[in-house]
Amino acid sequence: MNNNWTKQAFAKIAADYTRSADTHLISFSLNAYPNIDFYFKDESTHPTGSLKHRLARSLFLYALSNGWINESTPIIESSSGSTAVSEAYFAKLLGLPFIAVMAKTTAKEKIKQIEFYGGKCHLVENTTQIYAESERLADELGGHYMDQFTYAERATDWRGNNNIAESIYTQMANEPNPIPKWIVMSPGTGGTSATIGRYVRYQGVDTQLLVVDPDNSVFYDFYKNGDNTLTNQTGSRIEGIGRPRVEPSFIPGVIDDMLKVPDGQSIAAMQWLSSLLGRKVGPSTGTNLVGMLHLANQMQEAGESGSIVSLICDSGERYLNTYYDLNWQQAHIPIDSEYQKWLCSLV
Ligand SMILES: *Cc1c(COP(=O)(O)O)cnc(C)c1O
Repeated sequence: MNNNWTKQAFAKIAADYTRSADTHLISFSLNAYPNIDFYFKDESTHPTGSLKHRLARSLFLYALSNGWINESTPIIESSSGSTAVSEAYFAKLLGLPFIAVMAKTTAKEKIKQIEFYGGKCHLVENTTQIYAESERLADELGGHYMDQFTYAERATDWRGNNNIAESIYTQMANEPNPIPKWIVMSPGTGGTSATIGRYVRYQGVDTQLLVVDPDNSVFYDFYKNGDNTLTNQTGSRIEGIGRPRVEPSFIPGVIDDMLKVPDGQSIAAMQWLSSLLGRKVGPSTGTNLVGMLHLANQMQEAGESGSIVSLICDSGERYLNTYYDLNWQQAHIPIDSEYQKWLCSLV
């Protein structure tokens, strides 16, 4: 049974949703691929700046439905930053304390945004420590550990309910090739890939799902050899995607193919796309673009035409001091200049 606070919490989230608009689907074309239409669903325009706005809403609704949180429950989350920003927003909406457990390398802009929404940041040395530290904190404070890496795939309604997949197909309706040949996504929790892949099967549409994995992530090797005990000590350098362990929300069975994308290509693609679109995109969007162009080549060689859809996961404004700073770039992720040259030849 719902108590009064829980009823009001659902009502507040519903009202917030009603006040929000759907995100845009942006199209672009390239001279090098005259028969292929490219689309990006721009998830940077959510109130909290990334696709994690959807996930945070779903996780709160799931936790409320399960009776896991009440009017005084502190909310704890392990995050690479974007999820914590969005959860801090919803925690504030419901008047709940929020603590994000993150690696100390997390972008300063994200930390500022979490604090802007009244959240606290608990920084640890290394990404691999965030899970255990979140459990420990939740125990100590009598709080609820949201655990996006476990619950992302099941908190989202994969059949429809205007999830990201349904929204893409609705927005594609009047395009020359309304059913995408491919959708491309980079995994953090794996939740978005799971939602898209399940929706595609359930609806019976002829779309394939390519998942693109950055350096220092275990998802690609797990997909190829099935070993779910794989770990990586370095940690991904592309914020938001790539994980040091096989996350429970990563569902390999819904994926048609995977591609390993070198970080130097992701950053080259991020910069190139930003000048093409006239607005800065985040690094994981660069990774997505590398996957799209890989498919465009394949389709062109096979004489195929059609559309390829992916996501702008977040905006580049969050990364002006890191990925967009040339000194930082040279020190951390040198750009692949051959790839950059090749990109410039496509326009
Ligand atoms: C979380 C995230 C992703 C990946 O989305 P998942 O649904 O968690 O797999 C990609 N890019 C950014 C910036 C993210 O924050």
